Amino acid sequence: MKFLFALIFLPICLFSQDINQIFSEKGEIYFSFEYKNKNILNKISKIVSLDHKINKEEGFAYANKREFSKFLELNIDYKILNKRKVVLEKSKNNWDYYPTYSEYVEMMENFADSFPHICKLHRTDMLNSGREILFIEISKNIGIKENEPSFLYTSSMHGDELTGYVLMLRLIDDILNSYGNNTYITSLVDNIDIWINPLANPDGAYAGGNSNVLGATRSNANFIDLNRNYPDPQDGQHPDGNSWQEETVIFMGLADTVNFNLASNLHTGSVVANYPWDTWSNLPADLIWWQHVCNEYADTCQQYGNSNYFTGFDNGITNGYDWYEVDGGRQDYSNYFKHSREFTLELSNNKTPNSNTLPYYWNANVNSFYNFMEQSLYGLTGIITDSVNGLPIKAFVEVINHDFDSSQVYSSLPIGNYHRYLYQGSYQIKFSKAGYHTKIKNISILNNNSTVKDIQLVPLSFVGINEKNISQNYLGKLNILGKKVNTNKNNITIEKKSDGTINKTIIIN
Ligand SMILES: [Zn+2]
Repeated sequence: MKFLFALIFLPICLFSQDINQIFSEKGEIYFSFEYKNKNILNKISKIVSLDHKINKEEGFAYANKREFSKFLELNIDYKILNKRKVVLEKSKNNWDYYPTYSEYVEMMENFADSFPHICKLHRTDMLNSGREILFIEISKNIGIKENEPSFLYTSSMHGDELTGYVLMLRLIDDILNSYGNNTYITSLVDNIDIWINPLANPDGAYAGGNSNVLGATRSNANFIDLNRNYPDPQDGQHPDGNSWQEETVIFMGLADTVNFNLASNLHTGSVVANYPWDTWSNLPADLIWWQHVCNEYADTCQQYGNSNYFTGFDNGITNGYDWYEVDGGRQDYSNYFKHSREFTLELSNNKTPNSNTLPYYWNANVNSFYNFMEQSLYGLTGIITDSVNGLPIKAFVEVINHDFDSSQVYSSLPIGNYHRYLYQGSYQIKFSKAGYHTKIKNISILNNNSTVKDIQLVPLSFVGINEKNISQNYLGKLNILGKKVNTNKNNITIEKKSDGTINKTIIIN
C-alpha cells in the first residue's frame, strides 16, 4: 500500500513543487522550447503566449503559472530564460530615455495643456493599480466630429515591448510642434482625427515600480497576455479562457465610440509589418491593399534605417498566420468585429532596446508613421444621408464580389462618413440600410488618391414627387410628416403602402 502511494504521488509532488518554485518570485516566465513543425507550434500557441521571436525549431514563449502547467503536460523540452539587461540613459533632451510613470503622465498632460486648440487628453477608467491608459487626440477643431477618418496608433500592449512607447510620445510632440510650420503635417492634422496611445499596458511596463521599466512584464498585473484576451473571429468571446481584462474593456469601449478606420498596434521582439489574419489561414479580402500599405511602411524604413532594417520575412512584411497563429489578438478583433483596418508592427528585435538607440528607431520609422497615417485619407470616401430629410445615416458599404470576413464597412454617425480603403481598380459598391432602397455605384480607385462619393439613400416609404405622380414642376419647401425638407418641386408628396397603393397625401406649405 505504502509503495503504491509513493509511486502514484511522488512524481506529482515533485512536479508541483517545481512549478511553485519557478513562480515563487514572479507571475510570468520567459522560456524557450523545441518544436518540430508548424502544427505543434500552433498547438503550443493555444496554451502559452508565443513570443514574436521564433527561430527554426526553437520557439520562445511567456506563461503564467496556469499556462505553464498546461505546457508541461505536453512533455516538451524547455529552458527558462532570464531577460536581457537594458541600458537606461538619462540625458532627457533627445528622446533617448524611458520616462518614469509620472514623467509619462506629465508629458501627456503637457501636450494637451500646451496645444489646447488641436490636442485633447482622454483619460479612461483608472486601472486597479491606480495607473491609467491615456490617449492623445489631435485634430483641427478638436472635440467636434467632422467628415474625416479616425486613426489610431497604440503601443506596448505587451508591457516589455517599449520601443513604440517612446516613439509614440515623440510622434505626438512632433505633430504638435509641426502644426502650422510644416505643410504636410498640418494637412494631416487638418484632415484626420488622430489618436495616439503610447502605453497600452502601464501595469506591465512598470511592473517593477513606477521609477523605471527594468522590471517590465509582457502581461498585465494579473499575468494575462492582453494580446490573447480579445474576442476572436474563430475562437469566440474568450479565446484565452480569461475574462476581459480592464485594459481590454477600455480599448473595446473606445473602439465602440470612435470607430477607428485605420490603426496599427506597435510591438517589438522582431522587425516586420504583420497584416491580417492571425487566427486563421484565410487571406484578407483586401490582401493586395494590405501588401501595398505594409510594403510602403517597410520600404520607407529600409530607406531610412540601417541596411538590414525591415528586410526579413517577405521584404519586411508578413501575413500573420503564416508567421504564427495568435488567437484573441487585438488586430483580428479590430478588423473582424469593428470593420476597422488594423495591422501589427514589430519595430525592433530587442524588446526594450538600450535607450540610446531610440533616436535611431525614430529616424528609421518617422516617415513610415506619417505615410501610414496619410493612407487613412485614401480609397473611397463620402457621406451617406437620407434623401428625404438630409440626415446622416449609418449604412452598410459592400464591395460586390470582393468583400468577405467582415471587410465591409459602415458609415458612422453623427456625420455619416464612410472610408473604404481599396487597392486601385474598378469596383461595384453597394450602399444599403434596412428601410431604404439599395444603391449600387461603379467606382474607380487609384492608389494613394481619394475618390469621393456622397450617397443619398431613398426611404422605402417615400415615393418621389418627381416621378409619374406629379407632373407639375414647383419650387419651394415640402413639409413631410412634420419635417421640413428642401426640394425643387413643391406640390404634394405621397406615401406608398406596402401593396403599392397611395396611403397619404401631404399638402405643402
Ligand atoms: Zn508583442
